[in-house]
Amino acid sequence: MAATAWHQLTADECAQQLQSPLPGLRSAEAAARLRHFGPNQLQEAPARPWWRLLLSQLSDFMILVLLAAATVAGWVGEWLDTLAIVAIVLLNAIIGVVQEYRAERAVRALRQLVAVNAKVYRDGQLQTLASTMLVPGDRVLLESGAAVPADLRLVQVAQLRIDESTLTGESVPIDKIAEALMSPDGRAIALAERLNLAFKGSWVVNGRAIGIVVATGMQTELGHVARLLQTHETLTTPLQRRLAGFGRRLALLVLMICALLFLFGIARGEAPVLMFLTAVSLAVAAIPEALPAVVTVALALGARRMVKVNALIRKLPAVETLGSVTCICSDKTGTLTENRMQVVKAYPVAANPSVAGLPISLHSLAVAHGANEAPPLILTLALNNDAILADTESSTRGRSASGDPMEIALLAAVQAAGWSVTALQQHWPRIAEWPFDAVRKRMTTLHRCDTTGQQWLLCKGAPESVLTCCALPATEVDALLAEAQHMAEQGLRVLAVAGRPLPADVSLNTHVLPAASAIETGLQCFGLIGLQDPPRADVPAAIAACRRAGIQPRMITGDHPTTARAIARQIGLLAETADTDEPDSTVLTGAALAAMPVHERAAAIERTLIFARVTPAQKIEIVQYLQASGQLVAMTGDGVNDAPALQGADIGVAMGRRGTDVAREAAHMVLLDDRFATIVAAVAEGRRIYDNIRKFVRFVMAGNTGEILLLLLAPLFGMPLPLLPIQILWVNLITDGLPGLAFAAEPAERNVMQRPPRPPAESLLARGLWQHVLWVGALIAGLSLLVQAIAGGSPAHQQTLVFTVLTLCQLWHAQAIRSEYDSLWRRGFTSNRSMLIAVLAALAMHAVAIHSVWGNQLFHTVPLSASEWLLCLGLSALVWPAIEIEKVLRRVHDR
Ligand code: ATP
Repeated sequence: MAATAWHQLTADECAQQLQSPLPGLRSAEAAARLRHFGPNQLQEAPARPWWRLLLSQLSDFMILVLLAAATVAGWVGEWLDTLAIVAIVLLNAIIGVVQEYRAERAVRALRQLVAVNAKVYRDGQLQTLASTMLVPGDRVLLESGAAVPADLRLVQVAQLRIDESTLTGESVPIDKIAEALMSPDGRAIALAERLNLAFKGSWVVNGRAIGIVVATGMQTELGHVARLLQTHETLTTPLQRRLAGFGRRLALLVLMICALLFLFGIARGEAPVLMFLTAVSLAVAAIPEALPAVVTVALALGARRMVKVNALIRKLPAVETLGSVTCICSDKTGTLTENRMQVVKAYPVAANPSVAGLPISLHSLAVAHGANEAPPLILTLALNNDAILADTESSTRGRSASGDPMEIALLAAVQAAGWSVTALQQHWPRIAEWPFDAVRKRMTTLHRCDTTGQQWLLCKGAPESVLTCCALPATEVDALLAEAQHMAEQGLRVLAVAGRPLPADVSLNTHVLPAASAIETGLQCFGLIGLQDPPRADVPAAIAACRRAGIQPRMITGDHPTTARAIARQIGLLAETADTDEPDSTVLTGAALAAMPVHERAAAIERTLIFARVTPAQKIEIVQYLQASGQLVAMTGDGVNDAPALQGADIGVAMGRRGTDVAREAAHMVLLDDRFATIVAAVAEGRRIYDNIRKFVRFVMAGNTGEILLLLLAPLFGMPLPLLPIQILWVNLITDGLPGLAFAAEPAERNVMQRPPRPPAESLLARGLWQHVLWVGALIAGLSLLVQAIAGGSPAHQQTLVFTVLTLCQLWHAQAIRSEYDSLWRRGFTSNRSMLIAVLAALAMHAVAIHSVWGNQLFHTVPLSASEWLLCLGLSALVWPAIEIEKVLRRVHDR
């Protein structure tokens, strides 16, 4: 099938060859084809096998040195040591593999959630299906912003322009056609010139079309090019890159210290092999080579948790950036409002174009005449409309309708007025159209009555846009605009409806209305329509939460400034008392922005909370100005024109329900429920995750510092080696490892949304972290040295006590730093169950290491008495109050 030259066939030939009937395939036939052709998806490269992951864990240079040193040690001394070290290193590597596997799985799962849907005709109805379900012969509807889901032969095209840059690299969108193509000289037509085909992986920039699927999955042109989709994208975030650089410098320092330790030991007459092993073990334990990996895991698992609050992360670094957002620029419709539109006002202009009367209801137009006698206002609402109602005439709202909620509301109003939408649409088929776009702000269609041959050109859109096409005296235009303003003050979205009969001899031979044609002039205005869209109930609270968190919400809308301001007042974005007499004082319109001298724009944008009637291009401008003034901007968008603004924003937020595929592809984050409050929840989650990464770093680095200081200082004080290599590795694996993992589950700080955003360039070590690492490290080393000093007895006895105090200190430390601000008491010991389990498990394993026979052999420990345990517990517990004092100081300082 792949060899057929679809572009050379006419639409009918193509439909015949693919057995693609006009109302779409029947479900049973589609299912059979799906079984035959397989799902419409590109094959992914297989995941890395576990042994590869393991090998990459073990190939770390320091691990290799350690294994070599252990082998040498086994050769000259005890094989048990070698075995124990190898076992611990292996265990460590296995944990690493599990972590990486979890992260990879989480990232894969996230990718699958971003599934693309397609609109397809099946069983005579337009349905939305996962694009993987498409089969050859399916008839697919393409709309502005949609991803082309398979290779299609276009059979009906209106103003269709497609961006094929992902496939061909050509960045200029291509105008598509539906006619068959023949090369005059009989040579093959190049892929890029097959204008009647749309290829999987490209994007609809503009217009609408219907196409028949000619190839799916790996049979598509994209499939031929891609062969296998490389899914192992490198997952580095700015934080990871900073950490990797920091880790390298730290590693160098640690290596130098370990070399020093080795030399000290030799000078003091310790066995060289033991000292070498000790130095290498310390290096392995103290070099935080796993930091970047831990960050990936934290971010990936965090992203997975965010799905539960309906925020789908598409680009992992966004999790990190979210915590720094200072400004959220949000759409109005659907994000701040419910997107449950309803026609609540109609202001018909009588046939004699006087606008004197009071607004009357559409019901007054309810005349039980035939469909070809419907008043033009009704005709326009019913016909100049892409929404689709299900067959049952009564089910005008809710699930049975599909399309733009505003257009669904218009159809509902028509039905409520007693007209049959289906009958009207059947009598007046659409023969040409000029689809809606956000710049023109209107939509025009041409219809021909199937019985009389009469033609109507119908148009609806923003009043200022539509009225410019109308033949009306200025006074009437003013009166209509005043009425529109009046409706907008009540928070209504206002549409003007217009049109004119077209002589039957004027015919367009394509489905396309010629752009810039004179056809859209001299229209009669049929009236105004006011639609209500209630604000979402949770928005005022979310806006207040933003403000407490130092984040400024802004509204950017294509709607009328007065409507925007009325809604802003209802949701608390503007104070209720904001001056109404000065209509546009708090709203900046796109036109005003464009007219403003460039040097004044930055300041004006920064002061403005509401932008209305802005074009998509101005959205980018607003983002750029805000960014230049130091803001970190989250920006929502749903249309195809929003993609550049979404990409340019620090966090581009697309809508999962009503957004276009293009917007979703460009975004960093997708709101699965389209709600503004979800952005705020995601910011809180982002802040929590960053806090927890910091807590992890704080924990591991303070512990490592303690171990280094301990091993370095003991010989300086004339004490024997305080810890054996195997003990160092054990502490690294169990005492640091287990609680370290549990930080990811730490709940958010109480004040997480009551403090200003973190400056994006702030170092991970800022806000007292490195000071904490140093003093806690010193404290842990000091307490361990103290117990060694008072212990006496054999070296094994001393080492067991030091081993125990060091372990207990780390466990206390883990609990104490679970909050940066609140005392452990206030936070509660059980509020992070994973941490409690990790600490208890580490404690139990330590007890086994010193109280079992094989533990004594493996770790060279001796059992401790009850009083010695008490001593160790008492000493190590000092870490807790010390850290509580630090928190008190921090609270005082913050106040
Ligand atoms: P919001 O922020 O409220 O989501 P938006 O930026 O999505 O607004 P657009 O969809 O660009 O706004 O609409 C701008 C104006 O264009 C609307 O106020 C309305 O007057 C008009 N309009 C919107 N959709 C249509 C349509 N399908 N047909 C005709 N006119 C429309």
